[in-house]
Amino acid sequence: MHIIGGMNTLPIYRETVIEVNLDRIAYNMEQIRAMVGKDVKIAAVVKANGYGHGAVGIAPAIMEHGGDLLCVATLTEAIELKETYPEYPVLIMGLTPKEGFPAVLDYNILQTIDTLDQAKALASLARKRGAAAGIHIKYDTGFHRIGFPDNPESYRAIEEISRMEGLKIEGIFSHLVLLDDESNRRQYEAFCRAVKALRERGVVLPCCHLADSIASVDYPEYRMDMIRAGAIIYGLKGFHKGRLDVRQALTFKTKINHITEIKAGEGVSYDFMWRTERDTRIGTLPFGYADGYPRNLRGKAKVTIRGKQVPVVGVLCMDQCMVDLGDVPEAQIGDEVIIYGDGTGNTLDIQAISVLAETNKNDIVARLSARPARIYLKDGKM
Ligand SMILES: *Cc1c(COP(=O)(O)O)cnc(C)c1O
Repeated sequence: MHIIGGMNTLPIYRETVIEVNLDRIAYNMEQIRAMVGKDVKIAAVVKANGYGHGAVGIAPAIMEHGGDLLCVATLTEAIELKETYPEYPVLIMGLTPKEGFPAVLDYNILQTIDTLDQAKALASLARKRGAAAGIHIKYDTGFHRIGFPDNPESYRAIEEISRMEGLKIEGIFSHLVLLDDESNRRQYEAFCRAVKALRERGVVLPCCHLADSIASVDYPEYRMDMIRAGAIIYGLKGFHKGRLDVRQALTFKTKINHITEIKAGEGVSYDFMWRTERDTRIGTLPFGYADGYPRNLRGKAKVTIRGKQVPVVGVLCMDQCMVDLGDVPEAQIGDEVIIYGDGTGNTLDIQAISVLAETNKNDIVARLSARPARIYLKDGKM
């Protein structure tokens, strides 16, 4: 079997795989489109290898079901997409070192800009090629990560950028802290003030955007011209107030590849952090923290075998981990193991895993490494 993307262009000789249901991604996109209506654009955030789902593998399902733009964090991520899909518009939401600007132009990638200096460098390079680079301006309304600071000096700088030959401002955006209603409103108002002031100076700003997944569901009033949706595309629901029916697309699975019988009092894995109180069978599973499974799940993790939840025991290793099969006497080598699924069939879903690992859902999937092959289901088939 051959799979697209990264390390996975080689044949798969491993049972640990990430199965991505493209019908669910398509369904989620359609739900998001229905939620925002036809006048708001959807920028689909596929950074960090599409939140672990495989950016190249999921991009068509996104773009054929309502996506207007793909957003990534880095130039390398953008190039990976453009190599496969030159026609899909791609925005890098992070900053790119100037050394990367030639590639930004080669691939016709939209670049985020937040200083005059970057703008000048990109513009001069573009002019030499007789081209115009599409950019989005990042404006800081309080997150204090990147962006022009919120002051009149920035208005002057952005106005100057808008007049530069070799650049075309295609949008301006900011990002919400999501502290509370009051803080969101303050950021939104600061952003609107800046947009208004810039337009009064004659700056053309075709696309203003502020809302991520949570904001676009919980605060419809902040959707503006475009939303930047990440989590909800993958069926991860971090929102609290609004409603949106999206479904988790990813299942992480493997197979039992070894079974050992041990006696009461014997331990398992490094430092014998776990010992059995009864005679039991230990199943070995060929996945570990190098695949992106949180190592801090020791003592908390459960996987699903034959519809039963089974505890992962002992310290998680880099490439393997062990489960206590004491309560599943029928389990055999080769049995399917759901590491995490969508919650059906007595599986833990990503939400449940994130709670156990004391982190958020995005972190659980973004950390999935390149090692497990991605397998795509479409129309219910591989
Ligand atoms: C990652 C990111 C998003 C998407 O966030 P979700 O919470 O997954 O929707 C949106 N905007 C920016 C700037 C981001 O970095």
